[in-house]
Amino acid sequence: MTSTPHQPESSPEPESAAEAALDASPGHPLRDGRPEDGDGNQVGRLSGNIKNIVRWGRPHWKPFVAALLFMSMMSFMNVGRIVMVLPVLNRLGLADLGSKPAANLEEQEAVERVGDYSDSTLGRMVEHVVQWINGMTSHWVPDSWLDPAPPDSTPEQIAANVDLQRDRYATLMSTLLMFGLITLLMCTATYWDTYLSMYVELQIGMDVREAVCRKVLDQPLAFFDEGKRGDIFNRALGDTAGYSRGLSMILGSLRSALQVGSSFVVLLFLSPVLSLVTVLGLPFLLPMKKLSMRTLKRSHKRQKRATELVETLHQNLSGVRTVKAFGSEERRVREFRATDEALSASALRVQRTKSTSMALVAFINNFLAVALVLGGGWFILRGFLDVSLPELLLFMLVLVNMYQPIKRTIRQFNDLLDAMASIERTTYVIDLPEGMPDRPDAVDFGGVQQSLRFENVSFAYVPGSPVLDDVTFEIPAGSTVAVVGPSGAGKSTLCDMLLRFYNPGSGRITLDGRDMRDFKRNSYLSKTACVTQTPFLFHASIGDNIREGNHAATDEQIQAAAKAAFIHDHIAALPRGYDEEAGEAGARMSGGQRQRITIARALVRDPAVLVLDEATASLDTASEQAVQQALERLRAGRTTLVVAHRLSTIRDADCIIVLDEGRVVERGTHDELIAQSGLYAKLVQLQDVSSRATT
Ligand code: ATP
Repeated sequence: MTSTPHQPESSPEPESAAEAALDASPGHPLRDGRPEDGDGNQVGRLSGNIKNIVRWGRPHWKPFVAALLFMSMMSFMNVGRIVMVLPVLNRLGLADLGSKPAANLEEQEAVERVGDYSDSTLGRMVEHVVQWINGMTSHWVPDSWLDPAPPDSTPEQIAANVDLQRDRYATLMSTLLMFGLITLLMCTATYWDTYLSMYVELQIGMDVREAVCRKVLDQPLAFFDEGKRGDIFNRALGDTAGYSRGLSMILGSLRSALQVGSSFVVLLFLSPVLSLVTVLGLPFLLPMKKLSMRTLKRSHKRQKRATELVETLHQNLSGVRTVKAFGSEERRVREFRATDEALSASALRVQRTKSTSMALVAFINNFLAVALVLGGGWFILRGFLDVSLPELLLFMLVLVNMYQPIKRTIRQFNDLLDAMASIERTTYVIDLPEGMPDRPDAVDFGGVQQSLRFENVSFAYVPGSPVLDDVTFEIPAGSTVAVVGPSGAGKSTLCDMLLRFYNPGSGRITLDGRDMRDFKRNSYLSKTACVTQTPFLFHASIGDNIREGNHAATDEQIQAAAKAAFIHDHIAALPRGYDEEAGEAGARMSGGQRQRITIARALVRDPAVLVLDEATASLDTASEQAVQQALERLRAGRTTLVVAHRLSTIRDADCIIVLDEGRVVERGTHDELIAQSGLYAKLVQLQDVSSRATT
């Protein structure tokens, strides 16, 4: 039987010795069955990832859609600015670039013959708008601005001249109005587009991090093997940031794609034939697919390196006492640097593919510009193309304006591929199956009235290597059963099962005759408490650390629990009493004092089932006595399983179970077991000898 829920699947080829070592630890869901390589259906993976991001974006669809609308507005305003320029110049009589403004009607007609821009569809549309606004602005033109007509002009010519001049000034004013409006709209759109995009990114980031945190905490204990913590940290923080980054890239790509799209629509309006010339550049985009695949593959490797770096740092920090004691700081720093160098090299490899695709885009853009000038010019010269000079210039202007968004789109697409590695690693964690789901018909746990029983329980961490073998014993309600045995006998595993970290491989644990799994896990655990060998205090006040046992506890209950655990006086003597930070105070407390805080935490929970896993093993004799007293109070009237190394601490247990290699080999009271002269008697004798030797 095994508690490991995920079986290894195929792993990618290891690239280096370090990677091979990393991959040599099968059996963990973070290592196995992961989509770490860049192979496979890349388009499918990309669309899958985008769908995933959209799935997370769904609850925030309103700001998301608003951001998209502002984005579109920005794109159209952006290209609208350019489109406006030439029709307006045309109306002012300046469209024939290089020549002076037309001075009169005849010259204006001549200019329009050179490039009657207003004949094009787009020109006509802008003309209509300008004309419409001119209807208002022409009234604002003062007569003093108008030049008198030549002396020999006819009344019709004088009137036409006045109209022409008035219209030009009105056009200037209309242009000012239109640009003013466009500027206002662009500023508003930019503000809301960027603000709302960031809002959605942050919301999604928070949701994803919460989901990862929830899923990780929900996993069985085997998930949290020491070696995988760096990976978990990296996925929960680094990779979830990739999710937000992915969304940012998608929004950015959309923004740029909208700009490219709106510019292309204008190009089509201006000249469909010339627009086709721009399509000539598309085949050059083909190598992009290969580059994208490479980016994806390399990004996965870079993320693995990042994980290794976090793991290295985590190991150094958690083992800092050993590192210092053995003076191995320098060696550890060198190891850290080497891991960091591997990460940098990996990041540079990712950048190399990204830079190559950017260079490719620059090449395509220049190629298109030359193709347009030469090809377009040739077509115009040969009379195949009916494009006026202003139209060609406008075309070039719009095309050049497209370069930046195209470049941005490609860059953001590359970054999206880069972020895909993180997205996939995060999604993988979020999609892990629920740790230990409750049975559908599970009921609330009400406490132990008769007994808690281990019935023929067997268990293995690794298939084929049983740790518990057919273990059967009973703890009558309110009594204490102690488990003793040599190291590795399986004592802690028994405790872990009572805390529902693992389920029995076969057999069952019953409470008043009912299988433990018939009770809802949370309901059962709310009436269970555990005190372990290493007291763990959270980074919170001492009061809150005790309250962790029962969040509804009042200050009086907290203090009563601390008193019962013989730690109240010590806490009260601290400068800020129960408000003192456990981290700072913890450094000034002895192991026994910290242990008594965790006992107070268990007391305030008022548990029905109590698990004491070698709670006094690491204490000196003086501390042990104080803790022992506190434990006796805690045990009183509760159904308790005690694991003890110091056999002197469990002499008064109602029953002692002796475990050896996962099997119950003896059971009885202290006196009965001593009388049997078996393994227990031998263990007691050994401890007596060693304690005499140390005193
Ligand atoms: P000790 O007195 O030294 O704490 P123990 O009697 O409490 O030992 P357990 O910690 O229950 O023994 O371990 C029983 C066996 O299971 C040991 O051989 C141990 O190596 C193995 N084991 C414990 N935890 C795991 C795990 N997470 N994965 C694989 N094997 C494990």
